[in-house]
Amino acid sequence: MPVPRSDTPPIPLPTAAARQYLESLADEVHRTYFAKYPPLPVRWGQQISRKRRRSIRLGSYNHHTTEIRIHPILSTSTVPAIFIQSVIHHEYLHHVLGPHHNRRFHQHERTFRYHREAQEWIRRNLFLLLGRKKSELKRVPTPPVFPQATQVALF
Ligand SMILES: [Zn+2]
Repeated sequence: MPVPRSDTPPIPLPTAAARQYLESLADEVHRTYFAKYPPLPVRWGQQISRKRRRSIRLGSYNHHTTEIRIHPILSTSTVPAIFIQSVIHHEYLHHVLGPHHNRRFHQHERTFRYHREAQEWIRRNLFLLLGRKKSELKRVPTPPVFPQATQVALF
């Protein structure tokens, strides 16, 4: 898996391209792992605070609306598609298995084909996501290039 470049500027808010990209990633997760359930709406969350963070919630599942939200900080070209897909997969599991991160939940989490790679990526890069300054978030000289979802196709 590619090593993300820490000097690539992130984008502050999801663009139409980012929305489409997220939909394509979500479609693939749905088709590959949750085809027997109806697809859930998967959207970028809103960027509210840009302060330095101690922790960050990268995804959430609302069991009233059945909507999955992905933190917009992941909408940068430095975040590998499989990492975003691992978050989508995790939130789909909340839809299927309920709110608890119990043993059964963790067993199902490991069925995501790139679970280990995704864990490894966040272990190495979480500090980058947490440490962004406002000035860094606003410095966006060019639109980001999103990798094609097919480059990291799930089987
Ligand atoms: Zn969870």
